[in-house]
Amino acid sequence: MARLCLPDGAVRGIDIQGAQTGTVTSYTAGRDGTVTVDNPQHERALRQYGAFPANLGGRSTRGGYRCGVCGFAAYIKTCSRCGGTCEKES
Ligand SMILES: [Zn+2]
Repeated sequence: MARLCLPDGAVRGIDIQGAQTGTVTSYTAGRDGTVTVDNPQHERALRQYGAFPANLGGRSTRGGYRCGVCGFAAYIKTCSRCGGTCEKES
């Protein structure tokens, strides 16, 4: 399960059609501008629309690390995305 922020242009939500089922699932951002996605395929599709993980916003990364190379919010000192060195966030 993932929490994604929808891009600014998607204020009315995004419809994702299931590849196999053909069922359309509508994702509409809640008051905090995020949607919760259970289906990994839907998550991938939403990311193609420009959605991004909500935990990169900063609030929930308090006390964690941020990669100096790619900006990824990490929980350990070595970036799990690019392998770069992360700096502690205050
Ligand atoms: Zn990185």
